Amino acid sequence: MQRYLILFCLMILSLAGFAQKAMPEERPPYVLVVHGGAGAMEWEHMSDEARRGYEAGLLEALSAGEEVLKKGGTSIDAVVAAIARLEDNPLFNAGRGAVFNEAGQIAHDASIMEGKQGKAGAVGMVGIIKHPILAAKAVMDDGRHVFLVGRGAELFASSKGVDTVSPDYFYTKERYDAWEKTRKTRLEREFPLQPKGTVGAVALDMNGNLAAGTSTGGMHYKRVGRLGDSPVIGAGTWADNNSCAVSATGHGEYFIRNAVASDISARMKYLGQSLQEAANEVVMVRLAALDAGGGIIAVDRKGNIAMPFNTPGMFRGYVRAGEKPYVAVSKEK
Ligand code: ASP
Repeated sequence: MQRYLILFCLMILSLAGFAQKAMPEERPPYVLVVHGGAGAMEWEHMSDEARRGYEAGLLEALSAGEEVLKKGGTSIDAVVAAIARLEDNPLFNAGRGAVFNEAGQIAHDASIMEGKQGKAGAVGMVGIIKHPILAAKAVMDDGRHVFLVGRGAELFASSKGVDTVSPDYFYTKERYDAWEKTRKTRLEREFPLQPKGTVGAVALDMNGNLAAGTSTGGMHYKRVGRLGDSPVIGAGTWADNNSCAVSATGHGEYFIRNAVASDISARMKYLGQSLQEAANEVVMVRLAALDAGGGIIAVDRKGNIAMPFNTPGMFRGYVRAGEKPYVAVSKEK
């Protein structure tokens, strides 16, 4: 009898050992992923110098966000730090360097969401907020509303101490020339798929909390009053501790209609798909079938990363605790 008992105990112990090995690897202490937009850029003609500029911008954003996570800061603060850096960088279509609308104005959209309680904030059509992501965070922190647009959003943000600047601050010659060219030729009136450069970040912090944020000037030569997916919670931005955090970039109208960011999370929760499966199906199958160009970055609660895009390239990068950051521009790298 005793022999059987010992044998039984040994069996249980070896099964437990097997189960442990079969379990997924431990999640990394923190993960940060950023993007600087997807689009139909002439990736193969991009000079090495230009590519290095974009890569340096992504690395700077990763380092700003990692600084927060390394010290045990929250995923929300890391997302804000990374995005604010990209908003400062005139190479990207967010903050300084944003694209112009039909009327030759710059109108920014941004949103942010945290995965623990599902709190979210967004602003649309703001033109004087230095860091639109900070305005989105102010809306989230205030908690009374989720989405503010236009003058009301600007007044609210500045009442919360968010910096405002003159609209000239956002101007860059490259974006202005692109606007002028489109205006003259009027060839690409309906949502031309131009090099974009919307920015976004998703993060997992040491407490296992997820967050996502997105900031943009929207589509080049958009109609006055147009809002894209970037400030729309569930379309361009989503975070849920039970599944994943997502930030999107691409042809916003399709991303809104397909609730892209929340669909990826829902597929994980309700269909049991992995992050990679869910992200690939939405971006590479469903959006691709609609000819809707773009991509997403995402991280799940275990620290897995997905960065699919169906365009020739997407500025992207990530860093995991204790690892060297990775950045890439085109499909190959
Ligand atoms: N999704 C953005 C928009 O439609 C554009 C982009 O990602 O480049 O406003």
